[in-house]
Amino acid sequence: MSQRVLEVTDLKKHFPIRGGLFGSTIGYVYAVDGVSFHIDKGETLSLVGESGCGKSTVGKAVLRLFPLTSGQVVLNGQRIDDMSAGALRPLRRQIQVVFQDPFSSLNPRMKVRDILAEPIRNFGLARSEAEVDEKVGSLMDKVRLPRDAVNRWPHEFSGGQRQRICIARALAAEPDVIVCDEAVSALDVSVKAQIVNLLQDLQSELGLAMLFISHDLAIVEHMTHRVAVMYLGQIVEVAERRALFGAPRHPYTEALLSAVPIPEPGAARERIVLQGDVPSPIKPPPGCRFHTRCPYSMERCRKEAPRLRDDGTGHLAACHLHDLPAAENPLLNKAPPTAFRAA
Ligand code: SF4
Repeated sequence: MSQRVLEVTDLKKHFPIRGGLFGSTIGYVYAVDGVSFHIDKGETLSLVGESGCGKSTVGKAVLRLFPLTSGQVVLNGQRIDDMSAGALRPLRRQIQVVFQDPFSSLNPRMKVRDILAEPIRNFGLARSEAEVDEKVGSLMDKVRLPRDAVNRWPHEFSGGQRQRICIARALAAEPDVIVCDEAVSALDVSVKAQIVNLLQDLQSELGLAMLFISHDLAIVEHMTHRVAVMYLGQIVEVAERRALFGAPRHPYTEALLSAVPIPEPGAARERIVLQGDVPSPIKPPPGCRFHTRCPYSMERCRKEAPRLRDDGTGHLAACHLHDLPAAENPLLNKAPPTAFRAA
């Protein structure tokens, strides 16, 4: 039976906008507005969407880097959303993060050995300095860096090597969940692939649960188990990887997938170009938040927000099109949007 490691229910994070003479609250940025998902041991859930959709805020919220507006976050069966900083401290070991920028993520005044030893000591994971050394060496092996590189400074490494050190630092705490927040976005294409492969290997070796936050669907397609698509602070579709890439059930997902390059020479695909910009999260549109850009928008979409509903196979989508007869639903009457999905 699968073991639930992280469960998020109706998570909201509204940032107040201060203004006026006395700095009073004059509105809110609805960055995350009712997001629910779960991740099991050994599973990767990718959170995807355009820049500004709220996906990184979800990552920071589950890490409790700021107070939540509302909602529940359960880590290994324990609610952490309402915990004080002191009560949360020992539990921080269980959930670690790898950020996008490996250059600013590492303290330039600490050698690699000290960077990796710090969480081991802080969380009391070794009984002696000899054990700290052994654990640091083993972490270097895990991320495929030479053990003697522990005596070097972060600036002596390339971007890809620094990201390996960031991953090793996250693993040093022996976590159950790793949040990868655009962890490969800043890297060159070839290095990107190496880091993704490393993350996959580590995940299966250590049974980690991973929340992989990315705007890059081409990467996500090769390394995830399930995908959650976010638009303007809400999840609009969640499905197992093949189901989502093979037959998206939300027009926004369909448009995102149409922009993913096909690796086969000569393969063609109709690109769906969305009109307009993402609306402001300060004043999200009424009804379906995607209606201002959706090519299939109907009268109902402007008034009524669709609920995220399961099609009976674990594939969830929030779209009124699925209330139409199947023959009239444009999403159900199309060829798979990408080459992969024909496989
Ligand atoms: Fe488009 Fe309407 Fe579906 Fe929203 S509910 S995605 S506007 S068809």
